[in-house]
Amino acid sequence: MLGNLKGLLLTLKVMRREPVTAQYPDPSKRLPIDKRFMGFPALLWDNSNDEPFCTGCMVCVRACPTQCMSAEMKDNPKFADGTSRRRKIIEKFEINLSRCILCGICVDVCNFDAIEMSHEHELSKFERNGARAALPQLLAMGKKYQAETTWQPKQPEKNLGKPPEKPATAPQPEKVGGVVTS
Ligand code: SF4
Ligand code: SF4
Repeated sequence: MLGNLKGLLLTLKVMRREPVTAQYPDPSKRLPIDKRFMGFPALLWDNSNDEPFCTGCMVCVRACPTQCMSAEMKDNPKFADGTSRRRKIIEKFEINLSRCILCGICVDVCNFDAIEMSHEHELSKFERNGARAALPQLLAMGKKYQAETTWQPKQPEKNLGKPPEKPATAPQPEKVGGVVTS
C-alpha cells in the first residue's frame, strides 16, 4: 500500500515537470544555440564596403572533401571605379547542404575571411532541391550570423575592401603673368 502511494506521488510529480525536450518545429520553443556551435557554412558581408568578402578564388571548392561547393568569380565593378580593393568578386556560389559534413575545412583554407560556420543547422525543406543553398541564401545566413555574434575579420588590414583614403593634395601655387604667387 505504501509502495503504491509512493509510486502515485512520483507519477504526479513527473506529470507537473516542465518538458526538457523542445517541440520541433515551434520556433518559440527552440533551445538556445551555443556561441561556438558549428552549423552550415555561410558567406560573410563586408559592411565596410557593402559587398561580400568572397572573391570566388575557388580554394575552398577544391579543398572540400565532399565536393559539395561550386563558385564562379567576376570582375568587380567597384574595383574598376576605385571604390574597392577587390579586383574579383563572387558571382555565383552554391553549397549542397545535404552533402556538407560540417568539417570546417572551407573556413580554414579561406584566405579572405569570407566564410564561417554559421548557426544554421536545419536541413528540412519542402522543395526537392531545397538543400542547395545559392549565393543570396549563403549571404543572408552570413549576415544573420554576423548580427548574432561579434564576428570580425581575422586579417582586417588585408581583407577589408574599403580602399585607403588618399592624402589630400596641397593647393598648387597660381602663376600670374609668369610670377608664382602663393
Ligand atoms: S569563400 Fe574564401 S576560399 Fe572560398 S571562394 Fe570565397 S574567397 Fe575563395
Ligand atoms: S564544411 Fe566541409 S563539407 Fe561542408 S562545405 Fe565546408 S569543406 Fe565542404
